[in-house]
Amino acid sequence: MTENNAKMAGSAGAAADVSDLDRRYSFHPFTMLAEHERSGPPLVISRGSGVHLEDVTGRRFIDAMAGLWCVNVGYGRDELANAMRDQAATLSYCHAFSSMASDMPAVLSARLIEMAPSAASSPMSKVFFGNSGSDANDTQVKLVWYYNNVLGRPQKKKIIARSRGYHGVTVMSAGMTGLPGLHAGFDLPLPHILHTTAPHRLWEGHGMSDEAFTAKLVDDLEQLIAREGADTIGAMIMEPVMGAGGVIVPPRGYYAAIQDVLARHDILLIADEVICGFGRLGHMFGCDALDIRPDLITVAKGLTSAYYPLSGCIVSEPVWETIVKGGEHYGAFGHGYTYTAHPIAAATALANLDLIASENMVERAGAMGAYLHERLADAFDDHPLVGEIRGFGLIGAVEFVARRDTPRAFDPALKVAPRIVAAMIERGVISRALPNADTIAFSPPFIIGKREIDAVVHAARDAADSVMQDLESAGAWSRPASVT
Ligand SMILES: *Cc1c(COP(=O)(O)O)cnc(C)c1O
Repeated sequence: MTENNAKMAGSAGAAADVSDLDRRYSFHPFTMLAEHERSGPPLVISRGSGVHLEDVTGRRFIDAMAGLWCVNVGYGRDELANAMRDQAATLSYCHAFSSMASDMPAVLSARLIEMAPSAASSPMSKVFFGNSGSDANDTQVKLVWYYNNVLGRPQKKKIIARSRGYHGVTVMSAGMTGLPGLHAGFDLPLPHILHTTAPHRLWEGHGMSDEAFTAKLVDDLEQLIAREGADTIGAMIMEPVMGAGGVIVPPRGYYAAIQDVLARHDILLIADEVICGFGRLGHMFGCDALDIRPDLITVAKGLTSAYYPLSGCIVSEPVWETIVKGGEHYGAFGHGYTYTAHPIAAATALANLDLIASENMVERAGAMGAYLHERLADAFDDHPLVGEIRGFGLIGAVEFVARRDTPRAFDPALKVAPRIVAAMIERGVISRALPNADTIAFSPPFIIGKREIDAVVHAARDAADSVMQDLESAGAWSRPASVT
């Protein structure tokens, strides 16, 4: 900060000034813009340390979301700050076009290939770096298209994604994202994109066994492929555990069965590991946790714990070999960003991976995740508003419904989950209401402790109870006879 900026943010009166500057000049993502312009931000954060955030007025919060599922090692780690500072002083930038290379991205690429999940038949081979999960998923689509053009199959281009999947917001990745709120008003998705059923038991397979639900989901996929023609479909993209679309864990047997279908139709599998990758599920990758053998892997968020923007497309050997052959037809590979293989990003990622290893954070995420799920079950199992408690490793969610027995959703206009999240903020905990359902999510930094998890779950229960009382007294919900 310049002296002037620091002065503006520093004093008590200045807190209101900063909030007003934001209200007047900032164009916020995923925000009701008119409301923001009217009321300004509910919080202006100015510091972070460990699992805590502090706002400009000095209020402290537990960040139960690790930002947006990304600050996995927690805020304010000197190891990362020093790596970034040192790299900026040593080599602040170097491009990677036309075979130009710098040291840090080379070392990081080798490390990612060494750790990436891969099948014996198609080991991971190369890493292409980008700046965000969205642009990496965009790159994946271009790789699938290029691959099929090189193979002489110019019609094999469609991409299957899943309803409620989240893959980003670029023109292509927003289309793959299976949430209507990212399509409305933007003329999306583009024609190449197909969506199949979400493995969301509460709404798609209520009361079904794992076997029956898996069979239904596989059947839906088979029918979609038959309808479109397998020779028009290039790839399917999946998050091992869906994040933003609701923290959705598929039924047992799902990935084995889906991968059989894809293999039979020669459809590539893109694993979107942007949230799951680097320990969130208590395993290094979601593919390890759920036995997925992808052809392409997308990583971002946890790769640098969001200290610096960086994403990657990890490409398997068979896909790589085909893309290399493309040079004979198309010349130099015509894709890349100014910031591809940014040395500060790579140095930050290496320091982050070192920290995750030296502090056994993957194991810790697994252990703290188990504790989180225990506590969520204690707090919410018999809560009259709870339709489902979900999660895997250190990611969890609670979905609220108007009726539990035959699940019925609340009227979205009641904004049940956003109100619970607002009530949690009053209680000192930042969570997140997910789109298209009344779901609140938990995805804290791996360094969270049991007492902090207790505080998070307590705040969530207390907030849910207070919103339930408000709904009841407003006549918007009534207690089922059996629970009174
Ligand atoms: C966040 C996210 C993305 C998009 O990443 P950005 O960096 O926001 O572009 C893609 N896929 C998944 C699974 C994500 O959670």
